[in-house]
Amino acid sequence: MTQFRKYGVQDLLEGYQRKEFKPSEVVAACLGAIEAGNPGSNSLLEIRPEAALARAKELEGRASDMAKLPLYGVPVALKDNILVKGWKTTAGSKILEHYVSPYTGTCAERLEAAGAIVLAKANCDEFAMGSSNENSAFGAVKNPWDLERVSGGSSGGSAASVAAGFVPGSLGTDTGGSIRQPASLCGVVGIKPTYGRVSRFGVIAFASSLDQVGPFGRSVWDAARMLEVISGYDAKDATSSRGVVPRFTEALSNSSVESLRNVTIGVAPEWMEGLDSEVKASYEASLSQLKALGAKVQEVKLPHAKYALSVYYLIAASEASSNLARYDGVHYGRRTPEAKGLEELYSKSRGEGFGREVKLRIMLGTYALSAGYYDAYYVKANQVRRLIQKDFEEAFAKCQCIAVPTAPSTAFRLGEKIEDPLTMYLSDIFTLPINLAGLPALSVPSGLDSKKLPVGLQLIGKHFDEAQILHIAAAYEKSRGPLPFAPWKGGTV
Ligand code: GLN
Repeated sequence: MTQFRKYGVQDLLEGYQRKEFKPSEVVAACLGAIEAGNPGSNSLLEIRPEAALARAKELEGRASDMAKLPLYGVPVALKDNILVKGWKTTAGSKILEHYVSPYTGTCAERLEAAGAIVLAKANCDEFAMGSSNENSAFGAVKNPWDLERVSGGSSGGSAASVAAGFVPGSLGTDTGGSIRQPASLCGVVGIKPTYGRVSRFGVIAFASSLDQVGPFGRSVWDAARMLEVISGYDAKDATSSRGVVPRFTEALSNSSVESLRNVTIGVAPEWMEGLDSEVKASYEASLSQLKALGAKVQEVKLPHAKYALSVYYLIAASEASSNLARYDGVHYGRRTPEAKGLEELYSKSRGEGFGREVKLRIMLGTYALSAGYYDAYYVKANQVRRLIQKDFEEAFAKCQCIAVPTAPSTAFRLGEKIEDPLTMYLSDIFTLPINLAGLPALSVPSGLDSKKLPVGLQLIGKHFDEAQILHIAAAYEKSRGPLPFAPWKGGTV
């Protein structure tokens, strides 16, 4: 049974086609891996073995439909801020501990319609706020490369469960780096699509102008397959794009994918401050590798990227303070058992239900939006956001992709940064500007550091040009060669 642990989406699809194994065997193997490893890694919250096995059996009865189902029999985990009817959706918060989803989010619905099997919900930072997955009310997610280290956040459970071999693919959300940063720290591929590419219907909102859903996989192809399934217009999300969704995997199967001769990659030296020396070395080696594949490297200027951290924490906190107003113990969420009057009901329910980081953001956002400060903070932040977008527009006149490290360091120790929010926020310096500009970006593993921890390379694309960064990443991945699998810490399957 051990073999399935290393199987990616593509391996499974090919194996099913060759009739080498059946969905119920794969589900059973995933469940075995979860049983052995999840108590140590804490990646997954609700797990539904019986439902997954029943669904696998149902798919086995429809084996003749296999060619029409692009994710036939692929077990997946969904970040616990994505709704699936009848499942709990906690968003990593005590305030939603007992919330049962009344409907299914569009991205989850599309995965299921494509033949995927939802096996579990993945642990995450509370309301997707965090960079280490230490802000979950249900405990931190441990990194399968070293259980004493963080998995990255906020989609740490989604990234770690793919890295640990619990599932071959998963979904997360990315508001300022929460797909790419944990993908980098856990050594898997993660894509944040262009804002509007994937519907946000049925996804618990953090900062609505920045949030995007995206996939994790063990290879670029695997992530591309999931992305093409979940992308596309949805009448239930007014911000979803009507643009045509390319068949990303078809383009990757083309043999011309290996050459980067017509590609110019932008680099922005001024953005490279505060970088760990081993991450820097890995980044430079990746650039040489891209050049060896035929890519040209061109310097670009992103003069306002340095303001992204301040801009992001004003805009994201402002939007969050408004989006989280609904959790008051009446409309949504846990209600305090005893309160005298409405005001106390609100304040006690929220005070007891929300964790420290969420409270901090609500206070910050409420302050930035309050009369007297609105122009100085919120309006100003939006003006600078526009300048950051403009920097990228100008840079993309010279190149098709910009390459930067995904995170300034590899996985840090649990507890190392939790007492110092500013240091923690710096984990996202390379990812935040991309959400502010609404661009697509992915993280692809670029090797291991001297502590045997994964490093990630981030490729940023033009709006709706996920195809280009997938192409570059696939060529890079092929020339990089296979990486070792995360050391198994959960016993044997
Ligand atoms: N780490 C950032 C934050 O804490 C980004 C989170 C995210 O992308 N959801 O807000």
